[in-house]
Amino acid sequence: MADDRVAQGPGGLAINPARLAADLEAINAIGRIEGLDGINRISFSDADMAGRRWLLGRLEDAGLEARMDPVGNVFGRWRIGAGPAVLAGSHLDTVPCGGPYDGTLGVLAALEAVRAMKEAGIAPVRPVEVVCTADEEGRFGGMLGSQAICGEVGADWIAGAIDDTGVRLADAMRAQGLDPARPEPRDPADIAVFLELHIEQGPVLENAAEKIGIATAISGVFNWTVTLTGEANHSGTTPMALRRDAFRGLADFGAAIPEILDRAGAEETRLTVGKVALAPNFPHSIAGEAVFSIIGRDPDEGVMRALAGACRSEIGRAAAAHGLSVAIAEQSWLPPTALDRDVADRLVRISERLRLPPRRMTSGAGHDAQTFARHVPAGLVFVPSIGGISHAPNEFTPWNELLGGATLLAHAIAAFAAQ
Ligand SMILES: [Zn+2]
Repeated sequence: MADDRVAQGPGGLAINPARLAADLEAINAIGRIEGLDGINRISFSDADMAGRRWLLGRLEDAGLEARMDPVGNVFGRWRIGAGPAVLAGSHLDTVPCGGPYDGTLGVLAALEAVRAMKEAGIAPVRPVEVVCTADEEGRFGGMLGSQAICGEVGADWIAGAIDDTGVRLADAMRAQGLDPARPEPRDPADIAVFLELHIEQGPVLENAAEKIGIATAISGVFNWTVTLTGEANHSGTTPMALRRDAFRGLADFGAAIPEILDRAGAEETRLTVGKVALAPNFPHSIAGEAVFSIIGRDPDEGVMRALAGACRSEIGRAAAAHGLSVAIAEQSWLPPTALDRDVADRLVRISERLRLPPRRMTSGAGHDAQTFARHVPAGLVFVPSIGGISHAPNEFTPWNELLGGATLLAHAIAAFAAQ
């Protein structure tokens, strides 16, 4: 299955495809639940922690200084050279019934890169560190691991964070022997660059028949909860013209989405209503209340603002048409993150040298690289996701394309650590 041509690069640096495959297989044996497809290493579950402990062992086997910080981030440091370190990695936690490569690829390819560099006799001038962040998938909101490393969240934030089911983050951490009171931010001055390899989780590369993506920016996202309030009433006795039907307001907004995008969107705008609740939610009752989510994304914050404005006016129009009152709660507004231009340019050059012509692209999904990019130079490399499928058991990337990405990451780490 392995194609050694893509695993080879100039300068004698070659990753070992069989070893990478064995590591991917080993991590994905952790978190299987009988009767369920996919992988379950939900943040701070026993399986998540077992995966992290497994990684600690693999990092030690590779001769790295392995440790877990108080919030569960795992580091494997190659103590060599001097000055700020090259950090490379991603995450091992998954969504429920997740796929095999989301996060795992970036962590294990970074580990393989370090082993390959050692075998090739490459001696970096600065330290190299393999990183596996905690709770990237945001069980408790945000991206705890990378945000703790970058000093964006501290003990206060941890103390207040709760998951969807009411479990407190601090309790989940304590149950696993971690210390919610003691996150350990790293000094950004000690980080030369953060590099992340990740599956695209979208269809762009596959549709363009391209094998490598270099991210230039990560889309910003706003998250609203909209409540339309009318009047619940009998579905038989209330004439159509006298209704204040919250469902019809919601439906009008949904139908206006193409127009909103025409007016305020751009090429990479995404607008989603993913969660809806009607009340009383009974077949014979007119909906007195409709509560729904709106998630808007774009790599340009000006477009995000225009999109938000267009959503507000369409919601207002729909509410007026049906005699509804409106409340919009903005749960979060995360601005887009530009990735370091010099790092991206360098990744493009390295990719071209490896005869893996890359596509420059934006990322619609959030990643650890986004957190790091707010503090240190950061680069993000994508490999294709077949059918654009991710966060699902049938998430898949062909082996040669995984190897292409891992080879690029290895050469990138070597290049960034060489000066
Ligand atoms: Zn991921």
